[in-house]
Amino acid sequence: MTPEEFRRHGYEVIDWITEYMKGVESLPVQPSVAPGEIRAMLPDSPPEEPEAFSDIMADVDRVVVPGLLHWQSPNFFGFFPVGSSPPSVLADFLSTGLGVNGITWASSPAITEVESQVVDWLAELLGLPETWKTTGPGGGVIQLSASDSSHISLVAARHRAGNRPDLMVAYTSRQAHSSIEKGSRVAGIGHVRLIETDSEFAMRPAALQEAIDRDREAGLQPVFVCSTVGTTGTTAVDPVAEIGAIARAEGLWHHVDAAYAGTAMICPEMRYLQPGLDMVDSYVVNPHKWMLVSFDCSVLYVADREPLIEALDITPSYLRAAGDDEVIMYRNWHVSLGRRFRALKLWFVLRSYGAETIRGLIRKHIGFANDLAARLKADARFEVIAPHPLALVCFRHVDGNEPTQALAHAINDSGKAYLTSATADDRWFIRVSTSQANTEQQHIDQLWALMDELAPPAD
Ligand SMILES: *Cc1c(COP(=O)(O)O)cnc(C)c1O
Repeated sequence: MTPEEFRRHGYEVIDWITEYMKGVESLPVQPSVAPGEIRAMLPDSPPEEPEAFSDIMADVDRVVVPGLLHWQSPNFFGFFPVGSSPPSVLADFLSTGLGVNGITWASSPAITEVESQVVDWLAELLGLPETWKTTGPGGGVIQLSASDSSHISLVAARHRAGNRPDLMVAYTSRQAHSSIEKGSRVAGIGHVRLIETDSEFAMRPAALQEAIDRDREAGLQPVFVCSTVGTTGTTAVDPVAEIGAIARAEGLWHHVDAAYAGTAMICPEMRYLQPGLDMVDSYVVNPHKWMLVSFDCSVLYVADREPLIEALDITPSYLRAAGDDEVIMYRNWHVSLGRRFRALKLWFVLRSYGAETIRGLIRKHIGFANDLAARLKADARFEVIAPHPLALVCFRHVDGNEPTQALAHAINDSGKAYLTSATADDRWFIRVSTSQANTEQQHIDQLWALMDELAPPAD
C-alpha cells in the first residue's frame, strides 16, 4: 500500500467508523449467530495473491458486523461498558501509525514521559494520594487490563514476603472479581481465601480477621488482601479503611480493585466510598470502562514503587544505558517488555473533553440508575436486591429464578436492549448497567417500557 493509497483507504475507514457510530443505535444489540457460523464464512486457506482493500472492507460488513455484540449501542446495558469516543479512536490510530515500542525510556522518551504525566493528572483528578504520583515515592503505569494490574500487585506482594509462596495466603471477598483468584494462581501464591460478605455483598472485616488468625495458627503466611470498590456483580463496596487497618496491623499488602468504580472518583462527592487510601499499597482503575477511553487502558497505582521494581527488574546488558537511574523504566512495572503508546488515548480524551464533561457524564449515568431503581421499587413485580451507589441496578422478579431469567432472555432476544444476569447466593438477578456513553434518558425510558411489557405479573 503506497502512502497515497493509505491516505485514501484511511479516509474510507474513518468514514466507515463514522457511519457505524451514527447507525449503531438502530442495529439489534445482540448478534444472532450460531457457534462456527462466522468462521465458516472465511476461506479455508490464507490468500497467496493480494486482495483489493474494497474486498476486505466488504467482508467487514458481510462477516464481522453480523457477529458483533454492539457495546457502543446506547441500548447496551450489559456487563460494564467498554469505553470509546472519537478522540480515543483517533489517538489509538496515531499510536499504531507511529509504530513505536517503549521497551526502554530511550526507545522513545515521549512514551514514558507522556504516560507519567497523564497518570499523575489522573491521580489528581481522582483525588488519589499525592504520594502515588510518579513525582513521589509511588507512581502509576498503564497496563492492559485490571486482571494484569492485580496480578502484578500479587507478584510484588509475594516477592516482598519472602521465598515460601507455598505457605502464602491471599484474601479477598466472595464477591471479588475472579482475576484476584486467577492472579494469585499465576503468581504462585499457595492459598486464596474468599471471605464472607454481609447483606450488602461487602466483605466482613471480622471474617477477614478470623481467617488470618486461623491461617497463622496453621503455620501459613498471610501476605495480601484485596478490597473491591464496586464489585462486578453488584457494585458492592468493601470497607477499605477497616480492611486497610487490618492489613497494616498484620503486615499484608493491601490492593484495591476499583476497575469500574474508580472513574467515579472524578466526582468528589463519590469519594466517601473509599476512605483510608493512606492504608493502601496498590490500586487499579480502568479508564477503558467508564472514562471514554478505548480498550485497553488500565492504570495501576502503587504507593511505593520500590517493591514492584525489585520484584520485576531483570535488566540484561543490551537494555542498559547511561542515565537509566534518572528515568522511569516502565518495563519493570509489568510482565511484558514491549509497550504500546497507550497514554495517547488517555491524553487525547482528557484534553478533548475536560474533567468537567466527564463528571457530568458520570453524574448523569448515576442518575439513570437511581431513576430505574425508583421505577423498579414502585412495581410489585420487582425487587431491587442490592444498594446502587453507582450506575448499576440489580433486580429480580419476585417470583424467583424462572421469571427472572426468562425476562433477561426476552429482552436480549428482542434486540432492542442488552443486559446481563448473574447469581448471588444461588438466586438469579438481572444487572442493568447504565453507563454506556451514548445512553440518554429516552433509552432508559425505552428499556423500562420493554421490562414493563415483558415481565409477567407477580403470583
Ligand atoms: C471489569 C473488572 C475487572 C476485570 O477487568 P479487565 O480489565 O477486563 O481485566 C476486575 N475487577 C473489577 C471489579 C471489574 O469490574
